[in-house]
Amino acid sequence: MPIYTAPTKDMQFLLHDVLKVTASNVPGYSDLDPEFTNAILEEAGKISSEVLQPLNIIGDSEGCVLENGMVRTPSGFKAAFDQMKEGGWTGIDMPEQYGGQNMPYVIGTAISEMFSGSNQAFTMYQGLTHGAASAILAHGTDAQKDTYLPKMVSCDWTGTMNLTEPHCGTDLGLMRTKAEPQENGSYKISGQKIFISAGEHDMADNIIHLVLAKIPGGPDGIKGVSLFIVPKFLVKDDGTLGARNGVSVGNIEKKMGIHGNSTCVMNYDDATGYLLGEAHKGMRAMFTMMNEARLGVGMQGVSQAEAAYQNAVVYAKDRLQGRDVTGTKNPDGPADPLIVHPDIRRSLMDQKSFTEGGRAFLFWGASMIDAAHRSNDKDADGLVSLLTPVIKGFLTDEGYDMTVRAQQVFGGHGYIEEHGMSQFTRDARIAQIYEGANGVQALDLVGRKLAVDGGKHVMAFFEMVKTFCKENGTISEAFTTDFIEPLKSASKDLQAAGMYFMQNGMKNPNHALAGSYDFMHMFGHVCLGLMWAQMAKAAQSALDAGSSDAAFYETKLVTGRYYMARRLPATALHLTRITSGADTVMALDAAHF
Ligand SMILES: Cc1cc2nc3c(=O)[nH]c(=O)nc-3n(C[C@H](O)[C@H](O)[C@H](O)COP(=O)(O)OP(=O)(O)OC[C@H]3O[C@@H](n4cnc5c(N)ncnc54)[C@H](O)[C@@H]3O)c2cc1C
Repeated sequence: MPIYTAPTKDMQFLLHDVLKVTASNVPGYSDLDPEFTNAILEEAGKISSEVLQPLNIIGDSEGCVLENGMVRTPSGFKAAFDQMKEGGWTGIDMPEQYGGQNMPYVIGTAISEMFSGSNQAFTMYQGLTHGAASAILAHGTDAQKDTYLPKMVSCDWTGTMNLTEPHCGTDLGLMRTKAEPQENGSYKISGQKIFISAGEHDMADNIIHLVLAKIPGGPDGIKGVSLFIVPKFLVKDDGTLGARNGVSVGNIEKKMGIHGNSTCVMNYDDATGYLLGEAHKGMRAMFTMMNEARLGVGMQGVSQAEAAYQNAVVYAKDRLQGRDVTGTKNPDGPADPLIVHPDIRRSLMDQKSFTEGGRAFLFWGASMIDAAHRSNDKDADGLVSLLTPVIKGFLTDEGYDMTVRAQQVFGGHGYIEEHGMSQFTRDARIAQIYEGANGVQALDLVGRKLAVDGGKHVMAFFEMVKTFCKENGTISEAFTTDFIEPLKSASKDLQAAGMYFMQNGMKNPNHALAGSYDFMHMFGHVCLGLMWAQMAKAAQSALDAGSSDAAFYETKLVTGRYYMARRLPATALHLTRITSGADTVMALDAAHF
């Protein structure tokens, strides 16, 4: 049976030593004193390990079952969902007006990481509801907000996001689902959506589907797409549930992972829908909460890596195989534990340095979303928009890789199901695909985001790195050698790649697009390098101040040094690939593949 312990101490370090939330002038942050955040994180951590984690394997092995048009979730899911609702965990960062707790998004992110780390499939029901509720909050009329939000914030009603159709996933301009206007102002929605997460299940009284569809006669392609609210049960004027709407589940998919989450084919047959936001501006409405949604998927990458890593550490300390080549460490036993071997150490250090660095990147991103939303900080908004494809693409690719590394620590025992290690890799894999496949995230970064506002935001990022290096170059010689110099060098590689795109992308866009995936990873490494340098600075200050928890801070420094020495230099290889251009990538005729 796998274990999961919520990383509350690491989260507290990020909130208070690194981000220094209480010193921030973002509204709501001054309330986040260490006692308060500790109480919340401890409580969320308890639910994660005591309620959600034991259901993770059950969800994986039982899966969801479609019976007579209803989806049955795995044993224990409904009771746990009710417990989450009763505890008020469903509307942490939602406005009080609709029953939420109005806490900052960064706290919501920390809690979501714990819930997802202990049970990703379960947490998605709530996550999808949060996404749909955020869209209604941003674009709904007052009447729509009053009708749907209180029930969605409490998760009495859950939500879904319906974009994908059989013939279109990335290219949503090809969409066929139609919305015929009716005399009473509503629409009749007809069409089929596939792969809809939490599309049907037995844990809520109603399901509020947000559906993208085309109003006949509108502009062609993506510009003709509008967003609609399509409830499973129509809602009467007094807020009670009325007739069943024309939406039904056609099938549930058999899939690689997240078995506890129902992935549904949804059929819309003249279903009643209500326009959300403006006609033909559906993609814009969806995109307003894209930064949050994609950060939430990046979080899944970190959460699965963390859970898998925790189990790999226990196994590496327990499993006896071979002897330490530098001298026996377990003379009374038949062999030494795996953790003595340098190759196992390499793997564990890769995992540890990624999860802690990735979590810092996530929290930083979430704090920028708070600054953008709560303080109307345009620079924070621009920077987090630039970094969103990196958060999503890099953290989910690396998160998946780290679950594979953790599985590898178990050898054959990781491949069989007994220790539950394959579930982490199977569950982590989807995060690389949905919410925009990672290849498309890289295209978004290089093809769109770099040039936004004349490149202002990427220049601001480079300036931030430069300023950090300048301001902290005198901490100590060791800090400069271990953290500042590697960060400078990696940032230089990233700038050189950007320059290559500028000089060559205009001549032939393939030169930019063929390097986009490397660029996304390179950017991710530089961000984690910056995070590690900041964490190391915070750890060093705590040590200099005589912290009573020296081991924790020393460990931070050691882990950070590993990242800077062993992971960050990956930027040089990415740069070499990028500057080789598109010629070798595109040389083969399609017929020769
Ligand atoms: C378990 C699961 C849950 C999901 N949940 C939801 C949900 O709740 N709601 C929803 O609407 N959808 C959902 N999806 C769908 C998911 O978002 C899509 O599968 C995803 O966006 C990719 O679309 P596609 O599968 O059609 O792939 P395609 O669009 O056919 O793309 C195939 C590959 O080609 C690449 N590609 C496509 N276009 C380009 C291009 N121009 N340049 C370079 N590469 C390109 C992509 O990166 C991808 O690797 C879910 C999918 C799964 C498997």
